[in-house]
Amino acid sequence: MKLWEMLFVRATVAEAEPATGRFRRLRLRAGALRDAEWKPGQQVRVDVGAKGALAPLLRTYSVWSREADTIELQALLHGDGPGARWMGAARPGDEVLLSKPKGDFVTRSAPHHLFVGEETASVAFGPMLRALPAAERAASRVVIEAEPADRLALDGNVTWVSRDGLVDAVRRLALPEESGQAYVAGEARAVQAVKQHLVRDRGWPRRSVLTKPFWTPGRRGME
Ligand SMILES: Cc1cc2nc3c(=O)[nH]c(=O)nc-3n(C[C@H](O)[C@H](O)[C@H](O)COP(=O)(O)OP(=O)(O)OC[C@H]3O[C@@H](n4cnc5c(N)ncnc54)[C@H](O)[C@@H]3O)c2cc1C
Repeated sequence: MKLWEMLFVRATVAEAEPATGRFRRLRLRAGALRDAEWKPGQQVRVDVGAKGALAPLLRTYSVWSREADTIELQALLHGDGPGARWMGAARPGDEVLLSKPKGDFVTRSAPHHLFVGEETASVAFGPMLRALPAAERAASRVVIEAEPADRLALDGNVTWVSRDGLVDAVRRLALPEESGQAYVAGEARAVQAVKQHLVRDRGWPRRSVLTKPFWTPGRRGME
């Protein structure tokens, strides 16, 4: 076994099937996932490289849900990058190495919550919203840019917008006077633009806007 392989969990694909629009739903099972800590919003890194390669080829996916020793991912098949290819081709019984869930893109205690992002971000938002107390979830605002076919079922008050409408939709949003906690994820430039709007135009403190770029055009495998 190579040294790096010891840092990963060996999982088996339990289910893999087409899901909403361009999403593919994968359930990965491993004994080591049973006791692994997972906070909604956290992600795993999956080795999508060729079997037997000298080094892993890692791509990052949010954990949509976890049940006992199984985690569920929702992978957007956006093109022919190695991650999208692997996720598209995975079949039950396939083996794969992945990290345990980790990351600090998780909900914080706040007077109210605002979630902003696109399709890939909606995968992280799903479990974050589900885990909020019902009253906080009902009071939270969610703005997602996604084509109608790619809209995952999310709990909460979702404003759906089409391509390139994300920042304008947040601008139009009626928000409480008091700043809350924002979670902004997805395409990197849109993430920055939304943060700038909340901080500059709305006067939200920087620390109240948690950002996580999930991908950026032309760049591969962001963590
Ligand atoms: C913390 C975190 C959580 C994430 N969670 C999820 C998740 O749950 N589900 C999910 O599907 N993705 C998720 N992503 C995004 C995913 O890791 C990237 O889309 C990744 O680039 C996919 O790898 P790839 O090999 O398919 O493409 P890459 O080889 O990385 O990139 C190839 C090309 O495709 C472009 N590209 C990458 N992603 C997209 C996209 N979404 N739309 C259009 N073009 C794109 C790149 O800019 C590049 O030009 C997450 C990313 C991070 C950082």
